[in-house]
Amino acid sequence: MPLLGAGWFAFRELSSVRSARDSAAVVDRDTRALVRYTDLQASLLDERNWRLAVLGVQEIGISPDLITKVIGIDLVIEWESAAARVDAVAAEIDDPAIDAELAELRVDDETDLRLLGVRYRALEDELNVRSDALFDELLAVAGDVPDGAELIGTARVLEAAAATRSSTAQQLSSYFSARFSGAETAREEVAVLLQQQTVYDDAIEQIERSAESDSMAAEQLGVVETSADVTTFSDGVTQIIETTQELLANGDEGGLGFVTQDLAGVARQFEAGKISSELHLDLVTAAGNDVIISSQALTDRADAATRQAMATIGFLTVVSVAFTIALTRFIGQPLHRLSETAKLLRDGAHRDAVVLAGPVEVREAASALNDASTQLHLAERQAKALARGDLDAAVLAETASGGLGASLQEAVQTLAASMGEREEFRRRLAHEASHDGLTHLPNRKACLEKLHEALARTDSSRSDVAVIFIDLDGFKVVNDQFGHPAGDVVLETTSQRLLSCVRSSDLVGRLGGDEFVVIVDPVGGIDEVQALAERLLDAIGQPISIGKATVRVGGSLGIAMADDPEASGDDLLRDADLAVYRAKANGRNQVVVCDDELRSVVVRQNELDVAIRSAIADDELSLYYQPIVDPLTEQQVGLEALIRWFRPGGDMMPPDSFIPFAERSDLIVEIDSWVVDRVARQMAAWRSEGVDHLVPVSINISGRHLSVDAFVDDVMAPLERYGIDPALIVIEVTESALLDDLGGAAAKLQSLRDRGVRIAIDDFGTGYTSLAHLKTLPIDILKIDQSFTSDDSASSLVKLIIDTGHLLGVSITAEGIETADQAHALSSMGSDDLQGYYYGRPCPPEDITHHFPSALEDR
Ligand code: C2E
Ligand code: CA
Ligand code: CA
Repeated sequence: MPLLGAGWFAFRELSSVRSARDSAAVVDRDTRALVRYTDLQASLLDERNWRLAVLGVQEIGISPDLITKVIGIDLVIEWESAAARVDAVAAEIDDPAIDAELAELRVDDETDLRLLGVRYRALEDELNVRSDALFDELLAVAGDVPDGAELIGTARVLEAAAATRSSTAQQLSSYFSARFSGAETAREEVAVLLQQQTVYDDAIEQIERSAESDSMAAEQLGVVETSADVTTFSDGVTQIIETTQELLANGDEGGLGFVTQDLAGVARQFEAGKISSELHLDLVTAAGNDVIISSQALTDRADAATRQAMATIGFLTVVSVAFTIALTRFIGQPLHRLSETAKLLRDGAHRDAVVLAGPVEVREAASALNDASTQLHLAERQAKALARGDLDAAVLAETASGGLGASLQEAVQTLAASMGEREEFRRRLAHEASHDGLTHLPNRKACLEKLHEALARTDSSRSDVAVIFIDLDGFKVVNDQFGHPAGDVVLETTSQRLLSCVRSSDLVGRLGGDEFVVIVDPVGGIDEVQALAERLLDAIGQPISIGKATVRVGGSLGIAMADDPEASGDDLLRDADLAVYRAKANGRNQVVVCDDELRSVVVRQNELDVAIRSAIADDELSLYYQPIVDPLTEQQVGLEALIRWFRPGGDMMPPDSFIPFAERSDLIVEIDSWVVDRVARQMAAWRSEGVDHLVPVSINISGRHLSVDAFVDDVMAPLERYGIDPALIVIEVTESALLDDLGGAAAKLQSLRDRGVRIAIDDFGTGYTSLAHLKTLPIDILKIDQSFTSDDSASSLVKLIIDTGHLLGVSITAEGIETADQAHALSSMGSDDLQGYYYGRPCPPEDITHHFPSALEDR
């Protein structure tokens, strides 16, 4: 009986593990999860796009409200509703890891578009990995079950439907970016559109090929294909691709981007795109339902088969029981003892072999019982090994005799295999975290870890390790001309070539973008590394074929040897990077070793620091003044003080070559304070010369100075010393200085304003300020950067900035006016004041006085 029981039990367990019914359950679960993941991926893409759109228009200085007014699309509402949808789907998926990452994306007030894009993409990639794994599992399960062909078909349709949905969302976003961004981005986005069109067409073709004509997917595909919105949207996409290609063919780059004409058309296109996205999500759901239905059919078949198997087993059991009863009666007493032993065995209490005694039949039964005992014992040890996760345990390979032994062994193998797969999956995830998804090379983090290990190990003779930093030359050109897929081919090919040049003990990694690194370990000497670097350079430069085209890239390579016992892995990478920088400066496509000479460049920079300090002490600095003019009266209404450094011997150092450097230390605070003092003194001098209508003077203040506690005093003290009315002073700060708000910059500026000083934002349009932000900042004047006034194609944007600035009560000054045409254009767009070479170059104060006509008359 126990033997029979155990056999029956094992059979039932084994068959249940492998039954089609379980497969169907897996299919059902995976399919539902996949539909949700697709929804989440697409919704997340929507969220990212709208959020980036909001930040993007803010970045070029347009408030989202204005977009709503002009084209009727409320970016913020779209963003919020996309985010709400993401939340809803995430709640259904209910995965703490995803929730955590989402929460992190949300609380973040990051405004760097690229960084945000990268973070969203990281989560999207993770979702991709998961849904790919689900698809793989789904297809594997479908491939395992008998009659799984239909299931595989529906699963492939689901995969294709998911592709159409994400491709549609991607196209919607790229379309938007292409119409509202600069030429550079427009070109990139159109390349994406082209690529996504192919992805989309392939997926639709796959659905048409694989979907059964009576399936839900086929029906929904009909809806999609006859939808006017879908057609409108895809026509719009085709049109922007063709227009762009035409513009590029005619060399008319200026026509790209900022295509803000036909705004109503854009709005229509948006509505169509959104509806199209929804229809494609319905397509995914329909395809999911098809999968579930075909798996249901499998379940039904499996159920029928199970019922038949159970009936057979039942019959066999009854026969065995009857047979056993007959035997018991026949053999009686000896068998009774045997059965007592068997009971003990069943309860796990009996471990010793049964004494073989009694009639032949009983002895045979006892021997069988002993076999069963051995088998159960083995099963127990195998179960323990499995529970420990010890898949290599020798006991797992042991096989007991007989049919039961074979069944047990099979069950053990099945279990061990599935545990092994799980382990493999875990290993794969770990691999992905430390490796680059495209080239499968170790990423920056993994490289630094390896470098760290190598440096720790070779502590006694660290010159055993070297780093070769590789930056591709001409990669961007390939990307721009042939599109991102071509760029990917270049990166993959390059990584293969690098790998083929190094030894197995060396490590090739990708640091990101077109930057690679080779950690050479161990290394005999610099000559050896240099020879290797030359080989790498040669390999990189070999032609690469992409489709029918052949491209070539080059490389700038920098070598750093670990010869300084103090240097860390970061230091080594930085040194190698320094050498790359030099290789590029020397004309690219070469190898440069980081040596003391190169490091001395850094030292020379420190010398500049000393030179600036003595320039202040030795009075080598002076101020020039540039007029600011009211275009309507052509009267000078202000002056901007601009610093000049005349080095001994007469050379003039332009401010752009030392101010940015001084801004790296508190040196800039000294310079700024010197400027304020000098301006106040100059204004006092003008006054005593009889100028009775002093015009306000603008002073440039660096962001770093704003963060210093003494800033307000630094400005006010000279004004008080020379008796200058604070209303005659304008402080110019750049956008970034204000937005970082280090040390409460805004509050300090406000306190200056309270005393009458006015505040201007300098170089507006080049940073990240949005007009919406301006409302909350203490601003009186907005200076539109020169790059906008000289760019005709930006005129609608400039007009938008001027109008919105006026709405917010801010006065506008346009910088860099060089021609009468520009003066006329900016003035008619409403700019209050103008500044530029057209009205006057910066000049020494003695040349300025004649710009005060009233003062001259008074004399
Ligand atoms: P900025 O504040 O934007 O100053 C305007 C710059 O544009 C000046 O260059 C000016 O000479 C130049 N400019 C004015 N009109 C025209 C024009 O019509 N065409 C062209 N092409 N350029 C024009 P500069 O004097 O070389 O100053 C460069 C930058 O150095 C300034 O940019 C400012 O950021 C910084 N800087 C200058 N003086 C000081 C200073 O005293 N303190 C601080 N912290 N920074 C200063
Ligand atoms: Ca300025
Ligand atoms: Ca400026």
